[in-house]
Amino acid sequence: MRRPITQRQADKAVREYLRPKPYTPLGLSRLNCAHCGDQASRQWSLRPCAVGRVGWYPLCVECDVRLNALVMDFLQLPDREERLRQYTDPAA
Ligand SMILES: [Zn+2]
Repeated sequence: MRRPITQRQADKAVREYLRPKPYTPLGLSRLNCAHCGDQASRQWSLRPCAVGRVGWYPLCVECDVRLNALVMDFLQLPDREERLRQYTDPAA
């Protein structure tokens, strides 16, 4: 079983993965996805109320699509499948 992380480790993770300013394309190209570790190429701005501030979060394409699907499912958007299809394959 994993040991719970300390407050210091939690603060470091927030600093590391919820950057206060957006990443530049060059900056993103030097990062790994904060979720799975693959090459990052996209980013989300998040403001978890428990963290208390906006932060930019680097993601790979696959995790970005998964997070889009997860959020749209949570919001129960009626056209979420079509929106996701257009997002992942705009030429289709
Ligand atoms: Zn990823």
